[in-house]
Amino acid sequence: TSFGFKQVNEEEKSRMVGDVFTSVASKYDLMNDLMSAGLHRLWKDRLVSMLNPFPGMKHLDLAGGTGDVAFRILENINKVKLRGLRGAFQDNLEAETRIYVCDINPNMLNVGKKRAMEKGFGEDGSLIWEEGNAESLSFQTDSMDGYTIAFGIRNVTHIEEVLSEAHRVLKPGGRFLCLELSHVGIPIFKDLYDYYSFSVIPYVGELVAGDRDSYQYLVESIRRFPSQEKFASMIADAGFEKVEYENLVGGVVAIHSGIKI
Ligand code: SAM
Repeated sequence: TSFGFKQVNEEEKSRMVGDVFTSVASKYDLMNDLMSAGLHRLWKDRLVSMLNPFPGMKHLDLAGGTGDVAFRILENINKVKLRGLRGAFQDNLEAETRIYVCDINPNMLNVGKKRAMEKGFGEDGSLIWEEGNAESLSFQTDSMDGYTIAFGIRNVTHIEEVLSEAHRVLKPGGRFLCLELSHVGIPIFKDLYDYYSFSVIPYVGELVAGDRDSYQYLVESIRRFPSQEKFASMIADAGFEKVEYENLVGGVVAIHSGIKI
């Protein structure tokens, strides 16, 4: 019947769409590993350890893509739970942890959801996937204990608006953390890094992902991104206090942080 025929088509379509997501995800992860020599994993670990996640926390991971940061946060929270911390944490152990993963691209979120299922994350409802733009969030004012954005802010249209939205949704005392490719200052290392970015990355992009232009764009967007000092002053202008940053690998990446008071 035509109904049956349509059913088959839809099933086939969803399988094909699934295959596309899988290939996007595997390339995405492979490219991250190749371009950073696996270091992006350590950088994300560092970001999450600076966040100090705790049971019962409400957290927003912006540009959360395929869930890399959110999964680490949940892993950390599970470790805290296993240690069975007493005192101030005790109440939080009972409270419901909520990690919101927000990304503008539904394909990335779908990949993340699939990975979460495979890894067994969020079965207790602790992971929530939200399609949305970092520049205008649907989350309530003063609702989050923490906010992270990893390799996401460089590509937005208005950085100031992202920062002001981050400040709005955080509770007083809430922490803002941003991991981003930044600027290398050390003279000889800077020359090597420039060579690597302008020659090696677009080449590997073409070879592995068949997409030289996107990786060329990536390199140019790193160049255009404000310096560590300038970005720190933008975070302070958005209303954050105790603004600090930490360079990793001589500034190849930097982690900026601030507190909403
Ligand atoms: N955070 C993940 C990680 O570190 O692996 C993903 C980083 S990926 C390089 C950048 C992500 O930012 C993409 O998933 C993209 O869809 C998302 N993105 C770009 N512009 C955005 C915006 N305005 N609002 C929300 N997400 C955005």
